[in-house]
Amino acid sequence: MRGDGIGPEIVDATISLLDSIQERNHFKLHYTFVPAGDSALKEYGDPLPERSIEQFANSDACLKGPVGETIGDINQRLRFGFDLYANIRPARSYKGICPPALRPDIDLIVIRENSEGFYRAIESEVEPGIWTTMGVFTEKGARRLANFAFGYASRNRHMRKVTLATKANIFRKTHGLYLKTFQETARQFSNVNFEHLYADALCARLVRDPQNFDVIVSENLLADLLSDLAGQIAGGLGMTPGTNINYETKRAFFEPTHGSAPDIAGKGIANPIGQVRSAALMLEFLGFANHDTRLTEAATHFEKGIATLLNSPNKENLPIELGGTANTQRVAELISQFF
Ligand code: NAD
Repeated sequence: MRGDGIGPEIVDATISLLDSIQERNHFKLHYTFVPAGDSALKEYGDPLPERSIEQFANSDACLKGPVGETIGDINQRLRFGFDLYANIRPARSYKGICPPALRPDIDLIVIRENSEGFYRAIESEVEPGIWTTMGVFTEKGARRLANFAFGYASRNRHMRKVTLATKANIFRKTHGLYLKTFQETARQFSNVNFEHLYADALCARLVRDPQNFDVIVSENLLADLLSDLAGQIAGGLGMTPGTNINYETKRAFFEPTHGSAPDIAGKGIANPIGQVRSAALMLEFLGFANHDTRLTEAATHFEKGIATLLNSPNKENLPIELGGTANTQRVAELISQFF
């Protein structure tokens, strides 16, 4: 799904990298391109036509570019429709991009609950001029998110702390349910440290000491905000990839955290790194799901290419978003040179 705005530009740059890594690592991915987003609405009268949904359901994985104003429809039908309850958003900084990154040693992930909360967007007008919105918070949702977050931390040796963000002091029942469930789950994972912070205090701590966080986890709305904050302090919005996944059904799509950036669309200057790193997460997922090390190694090559680029002192090599002069195509070429 190439999406809207800068989507096609950064997806095409990513496909060129996928093509070259397949040649190098001797495997073959079969792509099908399907419409999604504002452009699909304009052309087919539907932001996610039936054939796009069918293709998604029948694929091993989906790489998605950002879409525009139709993001709500797409979320509804992919994230909620396929119950892709975990959204993983890593934020990592490198010494060559510091600044704009706050520090060179940021390496954390934000895990966002992706299937409930206020993003259910159940809104109603109770009387003219007065609207309410309802959030949905379930024990099942909190439990599987907690198991996922602690499981992730216990499998990744450099991620030893889970930090839950809530506003349980205000939303005592709903966020309180998340807090209680995480406290219970924490007792089953003795090798992982657990802390709970109110989300407002966490924002301040994240800017002050981002290197002290490993896994930050929260309900849908708070984690959406926290992941943009984490992405920005690690360098910029264009850097942050994302996985939307249901670990039980193994259904997933991979997309950058940022939107379709209409202000720079069509100029060929978007930073493709968030999209490329999303493809690396996809390769890692496909490698594990198919027990195929050629794909997991390919993911490592992508990350190595990006790390070499972003640790380089040569400003000419950096994306324009990070203060360099390399356009979208040039960034992709450099990553493949550094594979
Ligand atoms: P945005 O993330 O598109 O842009 C915010 C700012 O970051 C802009 O200045 C933009 O130029 C910059 N930026 C974003 N990605 C960049 C990149 N790769 N390289 C360089 N600069 C980059 O957020 P927005 O402007 O609030 O939203 C634009 C559209 O995107 C809206 O229609 C929104 O609904 C949609 N959106 C889609 C998704 C998605 O598809 N997952 C997510 C968020 C927003």
